[in-house]
Amino acid sequence: MRRRIRELQAAARRLEPAAPERAELREAAGHYAERWLASLPGLPGYVPDDAAAVDALAALPIGEEPTSLDAVLAGLAAGVDRLGVNEPAGHFFGFIPSGGSHVSAVADYLAAVTNRYSGVRYGAPGAARVDDAVLSWLCELFGYPLDAGGDLTSGGSVATLSAVVSAREGAGVAARDVARTAVYLTEHTHHAVAKALRIAGLSECVVRRVPLDDRFRIDAGALDRQAGADAAAGLRPWLVVASAGTTDTGAVDPLEAVADVAASHGMWLHTDAAYGGAFMLTADGRQRLAGIERSDSLVFDPHKGLFVPFGTGVVLVRDRDAMRRAHGYSAAYLRDTGAEELSPADLSPELTRPFRGLRVWLPLQLNGVAAYRAALEEKLLLARFFHQRMQQMRQFEVGPEPDLSVVVFRLAGEGPAADEANTRLALAIQRDGRIYLSSTTIGGRVMLRLAILGQRTHLEHVDLAVEVIGELGVAVSRASRGAEPQPPGPT
Ligand SMILES: *Cc1c(COP(=O)(O)O)cnc(C)c1O
Repeated sequence: MRRRIRELQAAARRLEPAAPERAELREAAGHYAERWLASLPGLPGYVPDDAAAVDALAALPIGEEPTSLDAVLAGLAAGVDRLGVNEPAGHFFGFIPSGGSHVSAVADYLAAVTNRYSGVRYGAPGAARVDDAVLSWLCELFGYPLDAGGDLTSGGSVATLSAVVSAREGAGVAARDVARTAVYLTEHTHHAVAKALRIAGLSECVVRRVPLDDRFRIDAGALDRQAGADAAAGLRPWLVVASAGTTDTGAVDPLEAVADVAASHGMWLHTDAAYGGAFMLTADGRQRLAGIERSDSLVFDPHKGLFVPFGTGVVLVRDRDAMRRAHGYSAAYLRDTGAEELSPADLSPELTRPFRGLRVWLPLQLNGVAAYRAALEEKLLLARFFHQRMQQMRQFEVGPEPDLSVVVFRLAGEGPAADEANTRLALAIQRDGRIYLSSTTIGGRVMLRLAILGQRTHLEHVDLAVEVIGELGVAVSRASRGAEPQPPGPT
């Protein structure tokens, strides 16, 4: 048996490369990353899927024998990293752009190599403390007490789910009462909230969509009246969601006024700052988000405004005990792990999780907060600059001055033909590839939106956006005028 065991050990030897092989692997990966980064400014904003990409991966079946590193990296280049939307590029303005912080990438590498068990404090007290340090820094940033509950999640949607179940516990909503409770959202509340309500078993709540004002912010007076009417009709208003930067237009709800209404009706106030939260680092952002410290819970996405790669959201809950009641657990096989201090797993749906704190903490350490403050202020000014430039182009109708860094606009005109022209313009821009932006509908009208949040997005990219939009806007308007049925001429 010993001999057989040794044979198996030898057959599995590849799983543990020696130092020279590790160095070779790192060097090849490093070269790949550098080549890709060097090509990034010249890559299109969007590349549609194609047969060559499918073939490139199909040529790499997972098999019994190893594949060469060169072949796999070539497959990644041809089959993966060439395709789709190019989020980390400076010329990317779609959806909500995400960064690609290089320091975060290195942090992920270190966290993976050392593989600290960060779910339970006993497993890696230092890793838990790094998570704590990030969460405490965020509590201070948002004006939350330092004993608030918090969790670093995989993203904003899971963070929202944690907030919603914490709210359910905090507000004491029992399953049998759900159908007699009411929740207040708007048309522009991110769908992550409705999704979280459904996953949490709360889809039978009565959901009110509170009207927006002309700048796409929640109408706090209408919220107050609706909650009052619902209470009078025997419903229990228990949750209101404010947005600190909607995905559609970047609008920030009047957080103070919403907090007043929430307090007067005894509702839990959740603030969705997944996109906008980072602007708390700027003086202007702090003014616009004033009142966020009065919320009961909030969500923020470091993989948006702190430029870390995809995979990190944050939830903060003022009443840590509510958060713990929603997520707490105990198990016989964890009896050695101590329980005096709360662990990340006590406040999270996850038990085992990656050491996420490092990918936020290391860049903050190595860059310093001032650099983030400058970058975010730059994005706010770029959005205002773009808004001004668009107003100078007569063929466009431009939305309100941006609260944060999303600007909405469209080729002027009403009706289905104008909507179709705007849809065509968005497609034309995406196909052109020099920049990328995405569209939405607001009040049933097709709008284009320029979202400025990429760490690599600077003045030259916004200048380019103005140029591309102007040029293709003229082309699309001409084409659609040409396509309109001409009045019948004399025959
Ligand atoms: C991105 C976003 C979310 C969802 O977060 P994910 O990280 O994509 O899961 C929720 N709300 C807003 C306002 C967002 O911008």
